[in-house]
Amino acid sequence: GAVAATALLLPLSACGGSRGATNSSSSSDEVTVGISMPEQMLERWKLDGENLKEQLEGYGYKVTLQYADGKTDLQTSQIQNMANNGTKYVVVASIDGTATGAAVEQAKSNGATVIAYDRLIMNTDAVDYYATFSLTDVGRMQGEYIEKKLGLKDGAKGPFNVELMAGSPTDNNARYYFEGAWKVLEPYFKSGVLQSKSGKVPGSLDEWQSIGIDNWDRQKAQNEMENRINSFYNDGTKLDAVLAQNDAEAMGTVNAVEGAGWNYFPVITGQDAEKANVQAIVQGKQSMTVYKDTRELAKATAKMIKDLVDGKKPEAKDTFNNGNKDVPSQLLTPVSVDKDNVKEILVDGGYISAADAGL
Ligand code: BGC
Repeated sequence: GAVAATALLLPLSACGGSRGATNSSSSSDEVTVGISMPEQMLERWKLDGENLKEQLEGYGYKVTLQYADGKTDLQTSQIQNMANNGTKYVVVASIDGTATGAAVEQAKSNGATVIAYDRLIMNTDAVDYYATFSLTDVGRMQGEYIEKKLGLKDGAKGPFNVELMAGSPTDNNARYYFEGAWKVLEPYFKSGVLQSKSGKVPGSLDEWQSIGIDNWDRQKAQNEMENRINSFYNDGTKLDAVLAQNDAEAMGTVNAVEGAGWNYFPVITGQDAEKANVQAIVQGKQSMTVYKDTRELAKATAKMIKDLVDGKKPEAKDTFNNGNKDVPSQLLTPVSVDKDNVKEILVDGGYISAADAGL
């Protein structure tokens, strides 16, 4: 508010006692950016954090990068610290998009501009911009992959056995990922071409959380698939495909299938192009992943901040409603990757080395 705006105009020595002064190393014209990332279990968040930091430092800004270890409370206190330090731009990839609201409201009232990174922050006015990849496209690519590999468009009648998992119930993205996939797959479930022996099929899109995996946790996904396999597929019943909505869930599924000792792998989808998963694709264990170039997302986000610093309007052609407002958003384009284009897209594209891909 007014205090922070004044602090911008005064030398540090003149604003003793104001909130801006608590960060002793920052001068009044310095652009400070706080980045709050959810966890480091997935490579992607490490890459996101590093890429963002590098880009922003390249613009000469002072950057604080923090990881919240998958803990909502820790993320809240990290954002509160950024707020108390008078951080001017706060970039958050939320663990729980709703729980983060209060902390970013505090940052906002201390004068910060708040950018939601990859995951939207829900039910608050205190989010200024959002940068992510087109969420429903990610799910659509997963659904279409299953559709194609099972020959459904060509009229294959099955019935095929498909098991479904969605993302973390607290992640707003997960709803849209499931929506994208469900739009493709639901008609086949309705007509009986697809079925799920476990019966774990949401009655409607609004019930997607019933098949969600807490925190997108690999081990939880593996336990879930082991249970389903043991209960429904260990008598020779074929499991044709698994909708796994990111690479952690895909790896959990690969592990569960390997543990079952079958002589085949079902069609298994994924998302993120994590190294181990790219190797699993090359080895024919996982079928596909949806690649979202974290370098591009970092670049787009850093550029948003640069534009704001320079007094320009950042690129945000789309909007995304967070329950309170339409948040100006930039949606990048994901790419479907399987063994046929893995080299061209990921290796030749410089995202992963041939050796890391297992090629
Ligand atoms: C991200 C995915 C990621 C998942 C788990 C989602 O919000 O968009 O890229 O796999 O969270 O971290």
